[in-house]
Amino acid sequence: MAWDFSTEPEFQAKLDWVEQFCKEEVEPLEYVFPYAVRSPDPKVKAYVRGLQQQVKDQGLWALFLDEELGGPGFGQLKLGLINEILGRYPSAPQMFGAAAPDTGNMEMLAAYGTEEQKARWLQPLLDQEIFSAYSMTEPQGGSDPNLFRTFATRDGDEWVINGEKWFTSAGRVADILFVMCTNGMFVVPRNTPGVEIQPEPRNHNHIIYNEVRVPLDHLLGPGDGAKVLAQRRLGGGRIHHAMRTIAQCNLAFDMMCERALSRESHGKIIAEHQMVQEKIADSYAQIRMLRLFVLETAWKIDNTSTAEARTDIAAVKYTMAKVLRDVSFNALHILGSLGTTDLTPIQAMYAAAPTMGIADGVDEVHKATVARRVLKEYRPHEGYWPTEYFPAKREAAWKKMQPKLDADPELAASAENYKKYFAKRG
Ligand SMILES: Cc1cc2nc3c(=O)[nH]c(=O)nc-3n(C[C@H](O)[C@H](O)[C@H](O)COP(=O)(O)OP(=O)(O)OC[C@H]3O[C@@H](n4cnc5c(N)ncnc54)[C@H](O)[C@@H]3O)c2cc1C
Repeated sequence: MAWDFSTEPEFQAKLDWVEQFCKEEVEPLEYVFPYAVRSPDPKVKAYVRGLQQQVKDQGLWALFLDEELGGPGFGQLKLGLINEILGRYPSAPQMFGAAAPDTGNMEMLAAYGTEEQKARWLQPLLDQEIFSAYSMTEPQGGSDPNLFRTFATRDGDEWVINGEKWFTSAGRVADILFVMCTNGMFVVPRNTPGVEIQPEPRNHNHIIYNEVRVPLDHLLGPGDGAKVLAQRRLGGGRIHHAMRTIAQCNLAFDMMCERALSRESHGKIIAEHQMVQEKIADSYAQIRMLRLFVLETAWKIDNTSTAEARTDIAAVKYTMAKVLRDVSFNALHILGSLGTTDLTPIQAMYAAAPTMGIADGVDEVHKATVARRVLKEYRPHEGYWPTEYFPAKREAAWKKMQPKLDADPELAASAENYKKYFAKRG
């Protein structure tokens, strides 16, 4: 019997360490030095490095990378359990060397980079000496990669990139940009002439690539491989988002339960009102279902591959977005007016929930993928009636049992009686 939902004690000890480290060290840092990991202040930097060394000493650095790609090789299931903790603290992924968009870019480099490319970019990214961004979406089309136009032309020993990208997260502060062209994925240092970062939006940047010249060895993977690299990057990223979303849902749930037990209205604590109980019960079940689905998908990836688990990864993606929307709404509602302010995490969580249904591919596209892939396993029925049409099934059953009935007249008589009785009942 292989089904088992328990965690082995050695790994539970790691999880306990992560939990305590995040609570004791990471969370206070967020309040005193927000965005500390990216701070240019040498004092803050040194403090962060000290904390990160503790993570490294625990063997928990860059845990998203498989062993063959140079990481600790925990696999997705264990990573899921760790991310369930990290996702509660905004800066924890960076503190553990496992924050997007760097993670996906590192995964592409680890999987497709030459040894020279890995030495030049992967190691410094792993060490957080540099940071990266990912330029894929274009102003004229995001969901449909066939609409992308950014293109690299070969000119002697250089590639010349022309195009326009939209919503490159943290592009403004990245050292290198991974630019998806119609003919390949290119690594472009941000300070290369022709990389024109537009003033708006501030955080997810609109970038014009205007005659941007990079050496030939800045092409990552094969020239026709951009979509394959993008899939590799996004497949892993989506499940990591889902793992951290469970943490966000748990945080919202803890807040709603605590508040429900703390407020009184119309003669009772609000937790005793049935409509409040319904929100708590529904949220509880939704989080449990999401968690099982995410962990099962992670387990499938570990036992097959991201490509083979694609249907479930896509389904997890839109399911997590919905659960986060529902649970954060319930929490906000139960917190009442306080929930609508920026004095707790809940308002921002709810406001950001629709983002989860857009980033890394909109819900509709993932739903279409799931339906298309699931339908491949089915065939149309023959004739007028579906397989489960009762009259046809009944007729087939009689035909199948006829030899037994012929051999046993008493059984045949019983069958006739049953037939008459049920015909009468209608
Ligand atoms: C927080 C955040 C961070 C992001 N970071 C990055 C990044 O770092 N790099 C990057 O390149 N991009 C990034 N993106 C962009 C993201 O990849 C795109 O937003 C996404 O692919 C959707 O593209 P779009 O925004 O152009 O929406 P559109 O493609 O214009 O879609 C808009 C709407 O049209 C409908 N729609 C579209 N296609 C279909 C369909 N096939 N069937 C049914 N309905 C459809 C849906 O209702 C959809 O929501 C980020 C986005 C967000 C929100």
